Amino acid sequence: MRLATVDGRAALVVGAGYVVDLARASRGRFGHETQAAYERWDELTEFAATVNPAGEWVRSAEPGDFGNPVPAPRQVFAIGLNYADHAAESSFALPEQPVVFTKFPTCLTGPTGDVELPPGKVDWEVELVVVIGRRAHHVAEDHGWNYVAGLSVGQDLSERVLQQTGPAPQFSLAKSYPGFGPIGPVVVSPDELPGRDDLELGCSVNGEQMQQGRTAQMIFPVPELIARLSAVTPLLPGDVIFTGTPSGVGLGRTPQRYLVPGDELVSHVEGIGSMRHHLVAPAS
Ligand code: ZN
Repeated sequence: MRLATVDGRAALVVGAGYVVDLARASRGRFGHETQAAYERWDELTEFAATVNPAGEWVRSAEPGDFGNPVPAPRQVFAIGLNYADHAAESSFALPEQPVVFTKFPTCLTGPTGDVELPPGKVDWEVELVVVIGRRAHHVAEDHGWNYVAGLSVGQDLSERVLQQTGPAPQFSLAKSYPGFGPIGPVVVSPDELPGRDDLELGCSVNGEQMQQGRTAQMIFPVPELIARLSAVTPLLPGDVIFTGTPSGVGLGRTPQRYLVPGDELVSHVEGIGSMRHHLVAPAS
């Protein structure tokens, strides 16, 4: 199943560029708010299997019609230093347990559009995003995937000056400017991804590839993240986990490189899709 937000409403993707409006196709059984769908994930999965991909509610949609498929999570988790080569380029030791911070929810945005650059040094971090499909508390690693509704593409945009100011890293604040948490274009259920533990991901700036990695390189893979996070705090349906970034960020390059107005940032994860953002100067 592929869940999306199209023109601000929950939609199922039934083919490349083709969607059905969830509320209309279900005749009101499901509402139009995408976030609410995660509360009834099993029921939605059953319903989605009955949708006719050539039925009366099918229509075409353009990339710009897609919004954030997880617009209002109650909790947003983000994992730092989850790829060894990225920890090395950032001059950090390998973590022995996940480095966890949050991206405050007002930073979340959709898979296309403009992102305003605040003062400082804004960097890219393409990431696999996990969306939780059922309440998870004290979950064993072996059962971790059972709690995942689906996977999406994310960018953990980061302002490095604020991040590095003070005696301890300010990950949460420096990664939460408006527009710094794009997600999309769709949430794909793991059963649609035969290689769910080993997906290629990457990003480019103005067509030049900056990052390329595979999620199999994660120090803490998805099921282990769910086990370790849920050992402390319950994970709720519709919660989001940004799972960390591979190497190739601007901070780790020689010379260092950061985003400037006019740049186009394209981010992708194999089997899910791609996002396209334009960086712009703040409106004065
Ligand atoms: Zn990150």
